[in-house]
Amino acid sequence: MSELIWSCPVCGENLVNTEKLLKCSKNHCFDKARSGYVNLISVKQKHAKIPGDNPEMIRARRDFLSKHYYQNLRDALAGKIRAYLPENPDSVILDAGCGEGYYTSHISRFAGNCYGVDISKSAADFAAKADKHTHYAVGSVFHLPVQEHSCDLLLNIFAPYCHSEFLRVLKHHGLLIRIIPAAKHLWEFKQAVYDKPYENQVKDYGLEHFAFLEKTEVQNRIFLDSSEDIQNLFQMTPYAYRTGARERERLRNLEMLETQTAFEILIYQKI
Ligand SMILES: [Zn+2]
Repeated sequence: MSELIWSCPVCGENLVNTEKLLKCSKNHCFDKARSGYVNLISVKQKHAKIPGDNPEMIRARRDFLSKHYYQNLRDALAGKIRAYLPENPDSVILDAGCGEGYYTSHISRFAGNCYGVDISKSAADFAAKADKHTHYAVGSVFHLPVQEHSCDLLLNIFAPYCHSEFLRVLKHHGLLIRIIPAAKHLWEFKQAVYDKPYENQVKDYGLEHFAFLEKTEVQNRIFLDSSEDIQNLFQMTPYAYRTGARERERLRNLEMLETQTAFEILIYQKI
């Protein structure tokens, strides 16, 4: 048995870790999947409207990221964590909305105890299969199955943001790192597909109860030389939801594409 930061999604009590399952003092039990993740979503949350990315979207993102188009971002993030998080094997890092663990699995190689939560079962399953250093759970960012004041660092990478939950699970002076797309992210890709491409809207950075420490913009140019990679990239973006037939046709005919990527890494400290 070992101490984990997971809490019971039914009653909120701490969960005790045994070989096959996790259990709270009220005997709510959660089985571990063969791959190693645990499903910590309550029946109520399961019927929520947004079940997360479907297996096809997970596959697309996994295939795309495995070609390291976003490696510069991952390296930049790792650099920030090394600079900000004191070296301590007991540090607790939670990736809220971890997807298939592309960033989480990398960070868990050098920093503290890593945890990842994602609403998608396929994502958690894939992540847990590939990465045995991190504790993965299926759970909602809006009802994190995580004990309060348990995290030194919270990561929120292209994932939904829940202010009250993030404040609850972070320790006093805990760090929050968010990654969001910058205004010109995938600009040439959008130009190739849309009649009227628009820039991403970057909102005000201020967050209540957090000190804003810094913003770093991370840019690159990527060259995609197969329609498969282009389709996979498309599947990863919010545009996949709202694209008409004409744009889809253009997309199908694209066989190569050079586009810029642009991200913002935002770092905060809970005050
Ligand atoms: Zn319980």
